[in-house]
Amino acid sequence: MSYTGPGFDPPPPPRSRRRLLTVALAALVPGALLGWAVYAAVGGSGDDEGAGSAAASSSAASRPPSPSADSTSPSAGSEDEEPGASATATSPSASAPAAAGPLKGKVVVIDPGHNPSNFKHTSEINRQVDIGTNRKACDTTGTSTNDGYPEAKFTLDVAHRMRTLLEEQGATVTLTQDADRPFGPCVDERARIGNRAKADAVVSIHADGSGTGNRGFHVILPGAVNAGAADTRPIVEPSRELGERIAGNFVRVTGSAPSNYTGGGTGLVTRKDLGGLNLSTVPKVFIECGNMRDSKDAALLTSGAWRQKAAQGISEGIVSFLRG
Ligand SMILES: [Zn+2]
Repeated sequence: MSYTGPGFDPPPPPRSRRRLLTVALAALVPGALLGWAVYAAVGGSGDDEGAGSAAASSSAASRPPSPSADSTSPSAGSEDEEPGASATATSPSASAPAAAGPLKGKVVVIDPGHNPSNFKHTSEINRQVDIGTNRKACDTTGTSTNDGYPEAKFTLDVAHRMRTLLEEQGATVTLTQDADRPFGPCVDERARIGNRAKADAVVSIHADGSGTGNRGFHVILPGAVNAGAADTRPIVEPSRELGERIAGNFVRVTGSAPSNYTGGGTGLVTRKDLGGLNLSTVPKVFIECGNMRDSKDAALLTSGAWRQKAAQGISEGIVSFLRG
């Protein structure tokens, strides 16, 4: 890519050239995002913290009351793995792993949405917890593909791949759960884990449970909430920055389009009804990597090679955010 341009301007001094590069790169992101057609289809999208999430506040497109497709219990016994896919999981961008990487001293908390065993603990996960604005179920089972690949398995797999990539960059990485507990944690506890860790960035990993034909990813940003234990006002701005960086890198690395059913084609949606965001005191976003209930998206989500790209896109967004 040349930055000299077609004009007759003299070559800029180094400082300006650097700034020009930054601007040019920044321009690529919205360009990529806006390049996608927006379909009018509006379907029920089932995430994220289950029933009662109808009070969504979208930045661009209204989010209809959810039929809670996400509450579908995953069917057991699905095998999605592509043998060897995870064994070769390396990132081209992490070509220089070092004990002291660029993220040395930075703390990243990865929140793999749901829990593979939540469906066995319905009474526990249906317990109501305080999310500041209201009370809500502790956790939900998550959705699954039509062939039974559970969202909770997807989220853990992507989280593991991200942990590897981010640790290669020198970050300290914590997962909120690693299938090492019978259920949960509850959404309020998921937020507290990031808070207690004084995380520099937190990302909650999900895949949506929306209607057939609804495709693409979206990043969920915290809206400004000040109620009860929730006060997101200090994190709204940095979380948006984190989310925009993740969205841009996700498009670039995976080639996936922003959602065609929410977010108005931007890949960004703001919500005030998610306990995991409302109770966070550190920069945090959710990402819905695709729609498990659409067969084309499901083909991606069940591919280990694609999940590696997803993990890489999200991780590079985090790296970009943390390096400023
Ligand atoms: Zn989810």
